[in-house]
Amino acid sequence: MRVRFAPSPTGALHIGGARTALFNWLLARHEGGELVLRIEDTDRERSTPENVEQILDALRWLDLDWDEGPILQTARSQRHGEALQALLEAGRAYHSNATAEDVKAYKAIHGADRGFRGEPQAEGAVRLRVPDDGATVVHDVIRGETRFEHVHLDDPVIARGDGSVLYNFAVAIDDLDAGITHVVRGEDHLSNTPKQVLVLEAVRAVGFGADAPLPEYAHLPLLHGPDGKKLSKRHGAASVQELRDAGYLPEAVRNYLALLGWGAGDDATVLSTQELIDRFTLERVSRNPARFDEVKLKWLNGVYIRSLPTDELTRRIEAFTGREGLERAVRISQEKIHTLADFWPLAGSLFDGPTDDPKARERWLGEEGRAALLDVAAALEQTRGFDEASVEEALGTVIERRGAKPREVYQPLRVAITGGTISPGIFESVALLGREETARRIARALARR
Ligand code: GLU
Repeated sequence: MRVRFAPSPTGALHIGGARTALFNWLLARHEGGELVLRIEDTDRERSTPENVEQILDALRWLDLDWDEGPILQTARSQRHGEALQALLEAGRAYHSNATAEDVKAYKAIHGADRGFRGEPQAEGAVRLRVPDDGATVVHDVIRGETRFEHVHLDDPVIARGDGSVLYNFAVAIDDLDAGITHVVRGEDHLSNTPKQVLVLEAVRAVGFGADAPLPEYAHLPLLHGPDGKKLSKRHGAASVQELRDAGYLPEAVRNYLALLGWGAGDDATVLSTQELIDRFTLERVSRNPARFDEVKLKWLNGVYIRSLPTDELTRRIEAFTGREGLERAVRISQEKIHTLADFWPLAGSLFDGPTDDPKARERWLGEEGRAALLDVAAALEQTRGFDEASVEEALGTVIERRGAKPREVYQPLRVAITGGTISPGIFESVALLGREETARRIARALARR
């Protein structure tokens, strides 16, 4: 099996493109086949080196590798020209300057459902001659067979007047030359397929890759947002880069993308990459649109975060935040965060000092709160050690002595040491700060009016 991922580098790698890349990769790895990476850079203005790099970067981040390429489509223009020339010489293609108006006029005479056939001219754009009889049958592994009767198909334009070939022509020749056996791509390309199959059959008839089999096709279902509309920026992060910046783990993203239109068949949602490779088949890909729901991705990411060894999670959070020495804070935050980006808002104040949340102060550092805090300060001064258990015990005595509810003691303390009401566990946070720093922060909060 030889499959390909063929992005057009016109911007960031979007979630749909990443899903296509992943499905091709899983298929190749499952079958022991090869994945060819082809960069479809024929849109000269938008296909910048930066955009190519962005796509490679996103693939690397997702840990998706390829066996051949990247092949640049523009580097193959000579070969495209040769195939075009062979078709012209064999009379399978012809020059035609017919315009959209001409096509309209043709249909007015021959019938609206009649495919356009042009008169060969000496020069101009090039159209492929669609055979008069029969049909082109597209075999789609996911959708079954679709027949396109030739009488209804226009002779498609395959090259411009200047000899440069059009997209559907280049794709077909490139797939043929790369020996692609399975074309797996988004459903938006479904309508291109009969044109590409026609090109493939025509060039094979004139000796190009005559013994290569036609590839099989598989069109992956559309992606929708949670509201059932086509996935777009409105639904949140739309590109792989945005997911990375939002603090998702590549392995969680990979797992989630795999579930967009494919299922293991037993409702399993948390699947390691090896499990995905073992279980992935095109037969289990659905025809129905799949829903990308960032809430679910976040949940799944949380599962992955909790299952990482703490030192590994620390390494990733340190890389993400650009800070060092976070291991203890990561340990006490691991159960509470869903993304790498959740860490700093939760625990950053342990390093950078309390934030200022006037609402929290007002709510928890009134007369009662300050009185509780004074007791806390006294109790924490006298503990024998200063680990989590000693802190818990000291706070327990304050709660008991004051006849207070736990949060009437914990929350003032939390606001004093972090500035707000959100932090890792209170005993863990206090123990991490240590006796002196905790005392300093409490004193500062009490001095503030
Ligand atoms: N270059 C096309 C795209 O990025 C994909 C073409 C194909 O897979 O055949 O949408």
